[in-house]
Amino acid sequence: MFKPDLRLLIVLLGLAVGLVTFINAVLSSYQTERDLLMAQTLEANRVYAAKQAASTELFLLNTLEQLAYSAGRLAESWADAAARMDEAERLSRLSRSFNAVTVHDRQGRIIATSSDGLAMLGLRSQGTVADDGHGQRSWVSQPFRGVNGELLVFLSYPVVDAAGQALGLVGGTLYLQQPNALHALLAEHYYRDGTHFYVVDRSRQLIYHSDAQRVGEQVVLHNPAVEAVLQGRAGMQRLINSRGIDMLAGYAPVPSAGWGVVAQRPTAQTLAELDELMLKTLRNSIPITLLSLLAIAWLARWIARPLRNLADTVEHWDSPTADEEVRRVRAWYFEAQQLQRAMQEGLAMLHDKLGRLSEENITDPLSGLLNRRGLALGLERLQQQRLPFAVLALDIDHFKQINDRHGHALGDRVLQHLAGLMRDCSRSTDLLCRSGGEEFLMLLPQANAAVAMRVAERLRLSMASMPSPTGTAVTVSLGVALWPGPPTPVAQVLKAADAALYQAKAQGRDRVVYAPTGEDSAAGS
Ligand code: GH3
Ligand code: MG
Ligand code: MG
Repeated sequence: MFKPDLRLLIVLLGLAVGLVTFINAVLSSYQTERDLLMAQTLEANRVYAAKQAASTELFLLNTLEQLAYSAGRLAESWADAAARMDEAERLSRLSRSFNAVTVHDRQGRIIATSSDGLAMLGLRSQGTVADDGHGQRSWVSQPFRGVNGELLVFLSYPVVDAAGQALGLVGGTLYLQQPNALHALLAEHYYRDGTHFYVVDRSRQLIYHSDAQRVGEQVVLHNPAVEAVLQGRAGMQRLINSRGIDMLAGYAPVPSAGWGVVAQRPTAQTLAELDELMLKTLRNSIPITLLSLLAIAWLARWIARPLRNLADTVEHWDSPTADEEVRRVRAWYFEAQQLQRAMQEGLAMLHDKLGRLSEENITDPLSGLLNRRGLALGLERLQQQRLPFAVLALDIDHFKQINDRHGHALGDRVLQHLAGLMRDCSRSTDLLCRSGGEEFLMLLPQANAAVAMRVAERLRLSMASMPSPTGTAVTVSLGVALWPGPPTPVAQVLKAADAALYQAKAQGRDRVVYAPTGEDSAAGS
């Protein structure tokens, strides 16, 4: 089964943390920016609607004031038809406010017009008469379609004589879709960002719209901004407009006319900017993101490496180089260091145990010399090295008698006594071995016949001259042979040494016999 390694896990962890942080940052900044943008748009629309409403209100009041002034002048010369016409003309020219100026008598009949309204002279125009009370005060009509089908507004002011008696009224016509001061005022706004701007009258008719096509349309469906503004309230809100579009709207009323001004921008259009902003942010973060990924990968490698290297040594735990490999690992942090230490201790213990086991395997417990297995290993190594060596074969003389006379235990101590002298007479590179009950072998690497005979003689003399655990000296007999190197079989040399030993026994014991072999025997010495 797939087992991920530490490095991969760290990389994945880094990626996960990075991703979560990144998504969190993007989402929260998106949220913040979104709220901010929407609040700003709402506020901008509120301010814009308020400004437009205030300007319109001011315009209407100014216009009514002009009418009031005119009404005063007309009252003075009411009976003079020419003066009435002059005043109507003067007023019409005074400003670009009116498309036409008309003067009405108490019955509403038009008794004077500016030059651009002459055709209406003598008509009794609709919605302008005194009998419904409009003649008593300044008045802004609801927009209506005139005889020519044009959408217009009629503003009027009563003409009253010195006694307070109503004479008629003076009024101005404003065509909503034709150039005049009101139109110029409303059209002044800019469409920079998809913001719609419109004006509704009391009956929810669109009397101005930034999309000119829609002027005259009726707002039939519920629009919260229209409802609020027609109740005389100013403000801002997010809403679904009459066409089902999510909008950010600001609104303000025009009190003197009972109109409402609404500025609104589709929420989606507002947020589209934000999406672009976010995409740009994401794009800009790519280089740093890639760099962080590289850094994470590098760090992961750096952190995982000591543990990885330690883990790798487990593969060949039993090899003699395992300890060196563990020691070489750069464990630069606490956990790795502790593991390294534990592994080193474990390895040391393991090798110690193995060493002890193998030592026990090849050692004779009584004498502490090599046993037959140890001898075999030693011989193998000597043959591999292809270096000549001498073989000394020993056997204690009349050992049976010693056993019989002094007991087996003391016999054993005699064996140990001999082993001690063997050690004394040899070099550290020599191999000493107990090959049988009271039979021993000594292998002397690189010793020639003379050296081998000298060592044998010294050992024999030591035994013969020193008291053994029995109280008196015990003697040994020795056979000596040389292995000259390949191709002579080692077994042949061992046999020769044995034969020499028997010769020594036969010749009376307590002596050394040399058995010429290989080149020695060929040389005939
Ligand atoms: P020889 O001079 O011909 O060697 O006479 P020997 O009595 O030594 O004869 P041999 O070598 O045949 O005798 C070996 C004796 O060594 C027989 C046995 O009782 C004794 N022996 C063998 N192994 C041990 C041992 O581990 N401890 C003791 N105490 N005696 C042993
Ligand atoms: Mg024997
Ligand atoms: Mg013997």
